[in-house]
Formats: sequence, C-alpha cells, structure tokens
Amino acid sequence: MITIKAFEFNYFSENCYLLHDETNEAVLIDCGACRKEEEDELSTYVAQNGLTIKRLLCTHLHLDHVFGNDFVFKTYGLRPEVHKSEIEKLPSPAEQSQLFGIKTPIEAVQAARYIVGNEVIKFGKSELIALLVPGHSPGSLAFYNAKEKFVISGDALFSGSIGRTDLWGGNQEVLVAAIKDKLLSLPDETVVYPGHGPTTSIIEEKYNNPFL
Ligand SMILES: [Zn+2]
Ligand SMILES: [Zn+2]
Repeated sequence: MITIKAFEFNYFSENCYLLHDETNEAVLIDCGACRKEEEDELSTYVAQNGLTIKRLLCTHLHLDHVFGNDFVFKTYGLRPEVHKSEIEKLPSPAEQSQLFGIKTPIEAVQAARYIVGNEVIKFGKSELIALLVPGHSPGSLAFYNAKEKFVISGDALFSGSIGRTDLWGGNQEVLVAAIKDKLLSLPDETVVYPGHGPTTSIIEEKYNNPFL
C-alpha cells in the first residue's frame, strides 16, 4: 500500500510528492524545495517515517519542479531520472531562472538516466508506469499506479485545467491529444495528483474540464 505525501513548495506553489510503501522505500517526484524551511520539512518527514528515498523522478524539467534537485543530490546522493527530450529541448534551470526574474541560485544536477514511455519504475514492493504526455513540455511524464489507481500528472492535467503551452516545446494540440490518449483512457476512478493545485479524478476531468 502506497502512502502519498504531498508538499507544496516554492514561489510557484508546486506540488512535490513523496511516495512510500510498507517497505519504507520511497520515490520523490518533482522536488521543488527551494527555501531552507522546505528542505527541512522534507528531510524531517523522511527521518520521522524512517524512509529511504530510492529514486528522484521528474515529470519535466521546468524550474519550479527542479529547485530541490541539488539538495536531494547532496543529502541523499540521488540524481534525477527524466525523459531525454527535457534535457535536449529546455534551457538550463539557471537560464529559466533568469527569464522568470528569480534570484535564488539554482544548480542543475546531471540526470542519472533517461526514462522512456511505458517504462516500469520500481521501488519497495510497488511500481509505477511512466506515461509520456508531451505538450506542456516536450518530454513530460506522468507516473501511474494501476493497482492503487492514481496518477501523478505533472503539469499536463490539473483540476479543471491543463498545462500552459507557451513555454519551450509546448503545443496545445499535442497536449490535448496526449491527455486524451494517455490519461483519460485510465479507469474513471483514478485519482489525479497534479503538479499544481488540488487533487482530482479522471472521471471529473473527462466530463468537466473545459479544455478537453
Ligand atoms: Zn511545467
Ligand atoms: Zn509547474
């Protein structure tokens, strides 16, 4: 049984998710921890629950989802895993910072490896399937658990909305098609944990999301 702990981090109210199961192994998804208090909140939770973080996964490499990668590398020795297109087609976090006018220094951490679409990602006794959902960014991934019926959707799908498509490699037609193909095809009761804002469900978005 997977426990999903959500943290809301940084200037962009980004949702970082820490998933852990009965083995106390965990995966961290989109560590946007930026301020010292945010890093402390994460490390305190990990310590208090006796967790071992095994992997750092990125849905995509926009600034707000990678602020904490350097902290995670220095604290837990983990490098991010991400789709290759995110490395090839996006500016570095420092360049993105400059464009958004953010002064907090940010270090890029080299990826450990690349995730491909439909790859099975294991930790503890659990597994996630990486779904390629491009359009918000060129190599956006969602992480789906079929057994417990949830999906971490990154910035592809939000409650009542979809990701912006005016950033590097964004494309609204591609995004809507990918959401319909990869996410709305999941079972209706699947709970959606987005990169920003509240949780929702596939059935809710299928029938009520005005962008779809
Ligand atoms: Zn994004
Ligand atoms: Zn975001």
